[in-house]
Amino acid sequence: MTDKMRLVKFLVYGCQMNFAEAERMEGQLRGIGFESTEDAEQADLILMHTCCVRETAEDKAYGKIGEIKRLKREKPSLLFGVTGCMAQKESDALIRRAPHIDFVLGTGRLGELRRVVEELLSEREGDCQHIVDVVEDGTLPEEGLPARQGAVSAWVPIMYGCDNFCTYCIVPYVRGRERSRRPEDILREIEDAAAKGFREITLLGQNVNSYGKDHKLADFAELLTMADKVEGIKRVRFMTSHPKDLSERLVAAVREGRHICEHFHLPVQHGSDAILKAMNRNYTTEKYRELVRAIRREVPGASLTTDLIVGFPGETDADFETLLDFLREIRYDAAYTFLYSPRSGTPAAKLDGQVPDEVKHERLERLMVLQNQISLEQNQKLYGTVQEVLIEGTSRTDENIWTGRTRTGKIVLWPHQEGECIGELAQIKITQPQTWVLKGERMEG
Ligand code: SF4
Repeated sequence: MTDKMRLVKFLVYGCQMNFAEAERMEGQLRGIGFESTEDAEQADLILMHTCCVRETAEDKAYGKIGEIKRLKREKPSLLFGVTGCMAQKESDALIRRAPHIDFVLGTGRLGELRRVVEELLSEREGDCQHIVDVVEDGTLPEEGLPARQGAVSAWVPIMYGCDNFCTYCIVPYVRGRERSRRPEDILREIEDAAAKGFREITLLGQNVNSYGKDHKLADFAELLTMADKVEGIKRVRFMTSHPKDLSERLVAAVREGRHICEHFHLPVQHGSDAILKAMNRNYTTEKYRELVRAIRREVPGASLTTDLIVGFPGETDADFETLLDFLREIRYDAAYTFLYSPRSGTPAAKLDGQVPDEVKHERLERLMVLQNQISLEQNQKLYGTVQEVLIEGTSRTDENIWTGRTRTGKIVLWPHQEGECIGELAQIKITQPQTWVLKGERMEG
């Protein structure tokens, strides 16, 4: 099985969790002699790891699935698998719609990839068989170490699934209930990443704050503290934090940690209590304000970023103005802004009061103008300060400019100097704060 090198082409869509899962799938495939390629024409296996958070993501995936039919015609030995959220949701309907798909693996079955591919390869000579492996609530895949991309930052999933059922979100239906990995498995993986030269890890989950509620071996604050002690790791990050589960213990762990970065990504989604209730977010703006006060009191200088949804069903002009006021009050360092789009299969898609598209776009535009202004003002406060930056590599547009991040997660650009290496920490003086980046110069020594 392993004597012949085969090539796999990954097509990965969606969130950071999907990219982290693709690395783990690649790790499994390496064990049976696969290398990855960028060229689909050369591939022996094409693996599409899908997202279905938005209806448009699904339409795009179907378009891509259609394109792969030609490759299968030209190279009948080519294997084609669809995995992840859309595979979970559509299951064997995918094969009915596109019979050139060889296998479908749901979100809880990614650990079966190696077995399924081996099975199909051994049957290639005979009749083509379809495999569909989708379970309602998957077990935890401890499928070996990932084949990591990059050289500095490693993503480490700590839990899978979500119990929260926000009314706009399909994730709990396709990723199942929360399942936490065991702390020793996570730590082993972080140690392995450190031994391979990675300097930063990001602990990943749909809601990391509820880590360990199932197995009770450690809570998230304890896990963070353990990760902080792994030799060689200089930075520990985490995402995403649900505000309803953010604990004082977690804030204290960030304050006390040596390598735990002072950055909280705390999605508020909206600034109106009526909309938060309709979203089933399970906190009020007042409770959220208390969290922000605690973070700023206990971890001075921490950055705060968020996600916002504009145009949720029932959002009135007054709700929207309340959201703008909330942003003026909280003053986030940055916000990821989204237009609400109905996702079939979620309760919000059936709510009355869907907001017309032009109104949504107009509100989003106003929101972005305001947030960009706030982000710029937040960054301007850093003018003249010296920031510790982890060097990530060269800028995409200019190889003489280097890029890295502050502990607070802000992107910094500066002219490359002799002797600087990726993965090192550098002291950069901020000379030109902008809306999305900080430009600076390296301090001697
Ligand atoms: S917390 Fe809400 S938005 Fe996040 S994955 Fe779970 S249901 Fe979706």
